[in-house]
Amino acid sequence: MKTTIYSARKIITMNPNRPETSHVAVRDGRILGTGTLDELAGWGPYDLDDRFADKVLMPGLIEGHAHSMEGALWSFTYVGWFDRMDPDGKVWGGVKSVDDVVARLKEAEAALGGGDEPLLGWGLDPIYMDNVRMTRADLDRVSETRPVGVMHASGHILNVNTKGLELAGLLKQGQNHPGIPVGDDGLPTGELKSPEVMMPAGKHVGLDRSFLASDPGALRNYARLCVRAGVTTSSDLGQQLDDDLLKMFQDVTSANDYPVCMVAFRINFGMSPKDLVDYTASLREHSTERLELGRIKVVADGSIQGFSARIRWPGYYNGAENGLWYIAPDQLAEIYERALAAGVQVHTHTNGDEATQLAIETLETALRKAPDADHRFTLQHCQLASAAQFRKMARLGMCVNLFANHHFFWGDEHYNLTVGPERALRMNACNTALSEGVPMTIHSDAPVTPLGPLFTAWAAVNRRTASGRIQGAHECISVEQALHAITIGAAVTMKMDDVIGSIEVGKRADFAVLEEDPMEVAPEALKDIPVWGTVQGGRIFEAATI
Ligand SMILES: [Zn+2]
Repeated sequence: MKTTIYSARKIITMNPNRPETSHVAVRDGRILGTGTLDELAGWGPYDLDDRFADKVLMPGLIEGHAHSMEGALWSFTYVGWFDRMDPDGKVWGGVKSVDDVVARLKEAEAALGGGDEPLLGWGLDPIYMDNVRMTRADLDRVSETRPVGVMHASGHILNVNTKGLELAGLLKQGQNHPGIPVGDDGLPTGELKSPEVMMPAGKHVGLDRSFLASDPGALRNYARLCVRAGVTTSSDLGQQLDDDLLKMFQDVTSANDYPVCMVAFRINFGMSPKDLVDYTASLREHSTERLELGRIKVVADGSIQGFSARIRWPGYYNGAENGLWYIAPDQLAEIYERALAAGVQVHTHTNGDEATQLAIETLETALRKAPDADHRFTLQHCQLASAAQFRKMARLGMCVNLFANHHFFWGDEHYNLTVGPERALRMNACNTALSEGVPMTIHSDAPVTPLGPLFTAWAAVNRRTASGRIQGAHECISVEQALHAITIGAAVTMKMDDVIGSIEVGKRADFAVLEEDPMEVAPEALKDIPVWGTVQGGRIFEAATI
């Protein structure tokens, strides 16, 4: 048995018995021990590896809510507002106007050469461009002969050019659908809202299965993004996981050089509660070192910035109608009861506080029928939860994964438009969650916002909006709490804290290798700490060569 001892400038362990140390010994992909070289030498012969001597090691970072679809998107052209790094490490500058979007798509169009292959852009966020409506005329400037589409950052709106509308059979007078706005000429403007009108056009502009689910290339690209972000374990929060997809996940993650443990949740769509729970329970035995299975994701409502989240009285600040239920209450109740009885963990997307309340009350009732002292059912996003709701969650044994990145990306809109000043201050209330005793992590929901737990930690610590305001200063958490949230905190929510989340004896040898010490840099600089790469299961992955 070969033992390697790594020295580091500093090792932040997240083990409360020994928070900092200088050396870590690894054997068979697991942590043999931490401490001084002298202490570790007691385990017998070893190789001393000092390649990290000037680096800072942390437990491998854990993303508790993301989608491997982020890896698929990079096959298409990025046209978002903010700068964003692709799997090759190239940073794509943000585009700031419709003309910029057209120019970038034109470049991509030229690279395609001739033919009528579709062209798809993604990440458009008109909320930053004074809510300008892009039209088919704009996209006709890119091409009149090939179908061109642009997917919005929210994932809920698609713009297409005239060719795209034509191929979808939508280029005609008399459209009478709220999701298909028409122009002065009586024809659709090219903006398509809601899944049922996006899909018919989507398939002609490249928005097909590989975009929506994942394919082998996408899953590998996603893993490369993880290495660049210091992530060694990531959820994939909501996959159909049918036989084909399961086999794809197994094939890709079993490769010796696959650098991440994926935790793939079965989404609640398309199955009865009974089949969903039985099927998900049956997946557990297929779990491997790099593919964790056997958990359910349920979607209860929509998004706050899309006004599709279910929120309580007094509703949306701008008077918008309340949002949508994505699941019927009796279905949610049946899923919870069956899952508790089968020992299957459920993570539930609730954005609005009305949806959060439904999940809490439904679980309380279900627990009377099927008690479980350690279910750790987790609310995902849970952005608007009140202190009373966090108290209740703590008493029921629930965990939470808060959407800290929202402060930066949509904080100004929440203050001015969606929920108004007072409730904007309590959004993603990390401090209240922790002080009420709810086990907590924070997330990016990539591709909704970019994958990067250090950025997410920065967002939770600083609560800065895109315009630079600090929103909800009383909900800021310390750097230490934020680092806890993106390591052991996330492991707790996925019931993996006995395997990952800290650097201590017996756990998987998963490290994030950083160039700077997050405990030493200014809290405002957390997001800028360069990531050298990762160690996952004892295997070393350098971002520069991944
Ligand atoms: Zn999500």
